[in-house]
Amino acid sequence: MILHIDMDAFFASIEQAVNPKLKGKPLIVGSRGSKLHTVVCAASYEAKAYGIDSGMPSLDAFKLCPDLKFVVTDQGKYIWTSEQILELLKGYGFETVYASIDEFQMDVLDAPNPQTLAKNIQEQIHETFKITASIGIARNGLLAKLASKLNKPNGIAILDPDNLGRTLAEVPVKKLCGVGVKTELIFEVLGIKTCLDLYQKSAQFLEQNLGQNGLNLYLGLHSSEHFKAREIEEKPKSVGHSYTLSKASQNTGFIKAWIRLLSEMVGRRLRQQNLACKTVHLWLSGPEMAHFGAQKTYREPTNDSCEIYSRSLRIMDKTGQKSPKIRALGVTCSNLFPADNSALLKEDIRKEGLIKALDSINTRQGDWSIYPASVTLTRHI
Ligand SMILES: [Mg+2]
Repeated sequence: MILHIDMDAFFASIEQAVNPKLKGKPLIVGSRGSKLHTVVCAASYEAKAYGIDSGMPSLDAFKLCPDLKFVVTDQGKYIWTSEQILELLKGYGFETVYASIDEFQMDVLDAPNPQTLAKNIQEQIHETFKITASIGIARNGLLAKLASKLNKPNGIAILDPDNLGRTLAEVPVKKLCGVGVKTELIFEVLGIKTCLDLYQKSAQFLEQNLGQNGLNLYLGLHSSEHFKAREIEEKPKSVGHSYTLSKASQNTGFIKAWIRLLSEMVGRRLRQQNLACKTVHLWLSGPEMAHFGAQKTYREPTNDSCEIYSRSLRIMDKTGQKSPKIRALGVTCSNLFPADNSALLKEDIRKEGLIKALDSINTRQGDWSIYPASVTLTRHI
């Protein structure tokens, strides 16, 4: 069986999770900073209740709900959360792959109780990230994806031979991903109105013309090779870490210590994967400030935590505020390259030796046996 795990209103839910002021409020995430001249990238369920949804001009959204909250899209934060969810899912021991930034597929083979497993996954995701997921269960990825949409949000739906026909008959064909107005019209001419019509007609056509192979192709019957092929394509595109403080802080030294710690964690992950980055992204959010996120790209790739930290601080200067009140923050590195140490200067070679020594002590003695002095600040306040 395949579990299709689809995060509910992903970007909007993350924004609500990191900023308690947005919880329970109608919220849109816009693609650009100018709130009346952008497009809705994501809408919270509270905003969806007003008929607002992604793809809509923000101006129309504000007409539907003048009290709408607005934040600008912050890819670094979403990518980071998405990566952490994938790691969490892989912890279940089944092959798991990305379907998109907020959708994952897990091949649970013949696990005896996939519904219980799905429930556990939902609970663990909610406990860890304070966001919800809907999960579809079916014998192939296509149907599992469809099932994940049936009981949104925070729902579980299973499509099996007992309810497959009945369920597909209730789903209009336009609900399928990739079916727009034009395709819907063509389907109408062909007498295809529901997913069941499409399922039956396509299966019939493919079986008649291509035999069992064609039928398998349509049903999306996976093989482990299919999963593996997708896995290989999924090289990490970014590496990031973020943290939500227990309460907002205006102490710049404390905030910088956290940026240092997150930079250490990111640098360490890059080095473990033998990668270096050219782009560093820093985001900060707090109760009294608009969400801040900015990135800077350098010619020289790096995986040195200290360098990632100093690049992050340069980005922090761009906030234009002397000591902003911060509640949550994150450092993400992207624009990744295989680490190439061939052109290092003498000074850099010494530094690299030191970094390797620190990493190996931490690997042997446990994480954070040894760390930069500035990080100690994070432990005292
Ligand atoms: Mg989703």
